[in-house]
Amino acid sequence: MGVDRITGSAGKIAAKISEHYVDNARILPWRVPPGQSGGGIWPDPYHVWLSEVMLQQTTVAAVISYFEKFTRRWPTVASLAAAEQSDVLAAWAGLGYYARARNLHKCARYIIDNKEGLFPQKESELLELPGIGPYTAAAIAAIAFGERTVVVDANIERLMARLFAIDTPLPAGKAGIRVAMDRLTPEQGAGDFAQACMDMGATICTAKTPRCGDCPVQSLCQAHALGEVERYPVKPAKKTKAVRRGRFFWIEDNDNLLLVTRPGKGMLAAMRALPDDGWAARNDGYAAAPFPGKWELHENIVQHSFTHFSLEVDLAVYHGDKIAINSRDSRERPISDAIWWPIRELEHAGLPTLFGKVVKWKLKEQ
Ligand code: SF4
Repeated sequence: MGVDRITGSAGKIAAKISEHYVDNARILPWRVPPGQSGGGIWPDPYHVWLSEVMLQQTTVAAVISYFEKFTRRWPTVASLAAAEQSDVLAAWAGLGYYARARNLHKCARYIIDNKEGLFPQKESELLELPGIGPYTAAAIAAIAFGERTVVVDANIERLMARLFAIDTPLPAGKAGIRVAMDRLTPEQGAGDFAQACMDMGATICTAKTPRCGDCPVQSLCQAHALGEVERYPVKPAKKTKAVRRGRFFWIEDNDNLLLVTRPGKGMLAAMRALPDDGWAARNDGYAAAPFPGKWELHENIVQHSFTHFSLEVDLAVYHGDKIAINSRDSRERPISDAIWWPIRELEHAGLPTLFGKVVKWKLKEQ
């Protein structure tokens, strides 16, 4: 089974998906309703870009409130470019994959400095912007500017793999999936069509228990005809994830907690965090406390999953003498780049989810 068997049905499938979208499009704050683009009403490219970056690896439900918070605080690409990176990272806290926030900010500055504050309109030009990959470039060009591009996100990938019963396991199967989407995408209205397919994948052709009974293209779907819907898209054999161990340090004084800013490169770069022992994707931490003293150890209190590894966290709580972090004498300043943060206001510290979990555990435990 595969793409060639369905070539003759491509037009019919595309028409049914487009018709279905007219009455069933999800109302989302970065979109214009179906058909409006044809009438000359286009969504703001800044909104399309922001939403597409936020939606990578994150659900629509989680993104909506972040999108609204960002556009309220930074209503234009110029205002985002003028923001401090630390503020953008703090506002992003909780969405995960923080390289996206750093790239977002870098890209906004690039557009202001090099493109007179205007988004390029062509997929090929969008690809030159920092942090914009093939998917995002195709999506912005089609949705915000009407270029006929081939847009393939995870929802579309699943929909195409099932419609065409593409047997090649991912990631090699992506080539056939792209050919399939290319065959279906119309010359006009590629943006609406991409969003129609995204919606189908998100609401009907879902990863688990797809609603084939409500599907407008059920009669044309090869996976359905084979009775093997959940086999597609065919996944590669699973690799087991590495497990790393890291130790975080809880240093409290007068209802304040010691926080640091992480190094500018590496995991969770430049984010505010608890001090730790140098764990990383490729190594366990060194379990060494930042200074000698009385430490109480709690082992494996939190487990956190990153894309390529899982982290088990130990927490060491300091019970020794007061430490001075603001001293000019570096011998009295055992942790660099540290600040005291009021414990009752930790929710405003912009801590990444991993550190948020540790804080929650500790405050519950007290
Ligand atoms: Fe997806 Fe089922 Fe529709 Fe096929 S019939 S496209 S598997 S929802």
